Amino acid sequence: MEKKKIIIAIDGFSSTGKSTIAKHLAAELNYLYVDTGAMYRAITYYAMQQNLVGKEFLATETLIKDLQHITLEFVYNSELQFSEMCLNGVNVEREIRSIEVSKLVSKVSAISEVRKKLVEQQQAMGVQKGLVMDGRDIGTVVFPEAELKLFMTASPEKRAARRYKELLDKGHKVNYDEVLENVQQRDLIDSTREDSPLIKAKDAVEFDNSDMGLKEQFERVYGLALLRISEE
Ligand code: C5P
Repeated sequence: MEKKKIIIAIDGFSSTGKSTIAKHLAAELNYLYVDTGAMYRAITYYAMQQNLVGKEFLATETLIKDLQHITLEFVYNSELQFSEMCLNGVNVEREIRSIEVSKLVSKVSAISEVRKKLVEQQQAMGVQKGLVMDGRDIGTVVFPEAELKLFMTASPEKRAARRYKELLDKGHKVNYDEVLENVQQRDLIDSTREDSPLIKAKDAVEFDNSDMGLKEQFERVYGLALLRISEE
């Protein structure tokens, strides 16, 4: 008998390794993986290109009007075995990971209309289940009925060190202090915004991975997923 498919929601603070775990989990279960942060980053990148957002300004009304002209798509890159973000048909995967986008994304993602548009798209991706989705509001807003919810945390210093290494490896020019400040700033804005703040869903399993290796973490998460699937 074919196993029932479930939805796995992974939320948590910035740079807690959510996407690494989510990607492995999806590959192992043969599920679809969706990185919702990429969607908020792409809208932010659009706003930057149109000069609608900067350190000191945000043209909320114009951006809301423009939302109808923004198309987001995940396009699978078979060489990298990874889905890349396309904004109005253009691959922006590299651009959306920059520290410049990271510095502005929490401002843009606090706009309710932006969230509404993206949440609708995210919910549509879960209709068939068999989905691992990571973000900030997946277990609370996007899929409150998800069969398995995880909430990832780690100390800000550990998270900044990981993100710093990741950015350097990808050839971005950054310094550690700027990354640490960004991680803390984003967490503060994301957790205190009015619409869909980052909070742990009541029924989420919390993982503090400050001192946990990837292998141990994955084994625990995978074990939980198999258990939930067997219960369906
Ligand atoms: O996951 P990532 O760090 O790429 O997310 C970038 C930003 O996008 C977050 O800091 C947050 O402001 C926003 N985000 C969100 N809701 C989600 C996913 C990301 O508000 N579901």
